[in-house]
Amino acid sequence: MDAQSLAARLKTSGLLRSQGLIGGKWVDAYDGKTVKVHNPATGEVITEVPCMGSRETKDAISSANDAFQSWSKVTAAERSRHLRKWYDLLISHKEELGQLITLEQGKPLKEAIGEVGYGASFIEFFSEEAKRVYGDIIPAPLADRRLFVLKQPVGVVGAITPWNFPLAMITRKVGPALACGCTVVIKPSELTPLTALAAAELSLQAGIPPGAVNVVMGKASDIGDSLLESSQVRKITFTGSTAVGKKLMAGAAATVKKLSLELGGNAPCIVFDDADVDVAVKGTLAAKFRNSGQTCVCANRVIVQEGIYERFATAFSKAVQNLQVGDGFSEGITQGPLINEAALHKVESFVEDAISKGAKILLGGRRHSLGRTFYEPTVMGDVKSDMLISREEVFGPVAPLLRFRTEEEAIHMANDTNAGLAAYIFTSNVQRTWRVTEALEYGLVGVNEGIVSTEVAPFGGVKQSGLGREGSKYGIDEYLELKYVCLGNMEH
Ligand code: NAP
Repeated sequence: MDAQSLAARLKTSGLLRSQGLIGGKWVDAYDGKTVKVHNPATGEVITEVPCMGSRETKDAISSANDAFQSWSKVTAAERSRHLRKWYDLLISHKEELGQLITLEQGKPLKEAIGEVGYGASFIEFFSEEAKRVYGDIIPAPLADRRLFVLKQPVGVVGAITPWNFPLAMITRKVGPALACGCTVVIKPSELTPLTALAAAELSLQAGIPPGAVNVVMGKASDIGDSLLESSQVRKITFTGSTAVGKKLMAGAAATVKKLSLELGGNAPCIVFDDADVDVAVKGTLAAKFRNSGQTCVCANRVIVQEGIYERFATAFSKAVQNLQVGDGFSEGITQGPLINEAALHKVESFVEDAISKGAKILLGGRRHSLGRTFYEPTVMGDVKSDMLISREEVFGPVAPLLRFRTEEEAIHMANDTNAGLAAYIFTSNVQRTWRVTEALEYGLVGVNEGIVSTEVAPFGGVKQSGLGREGSKYGIDEYLELKYVCLGNMEH
């Protein structure tokens, strides 16, 4: 089935929505303006969605604030049941949601359906955690007192998300927020709003009350500013670029909001001489080429020890050569298009910069013959730490190989960046594993493994990769305030 007929079918099923959601009602932009949503594989317009701004955002905040008054008082067991129902609906619509992700984001259908499973897992996990938001009783220092700690929902949450995981970046925030009694205003990327809208539709079907989940999209800075300015919004949770994250951090100061930031990475992937080459190739391939290199945890620098460098480079290039590039709906495709022209130009400019400074193309290195935003899976050798491709996220299917001699040098190269999200090491030495993982200034470390994300483990970065953690038992703390209660005069 071609993409247009698929879109028509999704529309008939009610999952392809083209309006925002405010207070449980599907609405257009108040001035009627729209923005087109494109299929990155073909350039075709899938549909148009409202181009909203501050007026719609203020109404969404107000609806979320109204809904908060009741949702925060519903029992944890009831919130848990609603979230579980939402999870069940996400899973029973796995195929359609996967198709929507491939349509608007481009990743291969199998990977897109994988994202639905991953994204839904946060709703399932936090439906369970909803019932475990325990407080504390503290032994009092004075006999006539009793001391307690209550955990209470922070309030209305503004959730701003990127295009590379149109579902999972939303559920990772909305799951814990709803679980503990918060309500949300979601602003998905204007490039991929459709999955967010479909997930919101399923939240209504799950019985999550109108106003608890709102979705606005359009003018990013107007929406962002309205969320920042509002004193009703008590928390901003953001996943996206470091540059926008810094703006939001500065903007949140005016109303002293709680803030979680999941920002850009520059992941090192260190392959030591003592690594198993097959394990290192498989892990690096997964860490680098997932979503065509467009993830924040993608290996950005493959740092290889000199004794294994040639063997690794040959085996890795051979594995990369087998990757199949094409439209994510075609059978056997593992690499979809880049999200847009700007992303392609960025990749091209990074590759040109590296070549001009002495790097060698071992494989690929050009636009793909399919045209548009398809780029050849690429391996570059003799890359140095001062090249643009080592300094910044390439966010595309290019693996730069850098050489090192000693463990100290590898650690220094790995930490020589402002980012600190994910790092990977490949080694069969247990002592080295401990030494190096402790020395890496990163929030996540994969050892002999290239895919580490899971709903049960804390996800987040250090340094300029962000603040706070998502997923796991720690993720819910980001949406809670501690209230200390001192009960005095107990002897009367
Ligand atoms: P982006 O340009 O920062 O956009 C992220 C979101 O912020 C989008 O919804 C965007 O809206 C919105 N936005 C842009 N300007 C804004 C403003 N002034 N105020 C409020 N919102 C604003 O990032 P991206 O290009 O979509 O995503 C790629 C980046 O995200 C990469 O750096 C990647 O590493 C990072 N990322 C990090 C994680 C993590 O967990 N650490 C996960 C995934 C991605 P529009 O799209 O509508 O303009």
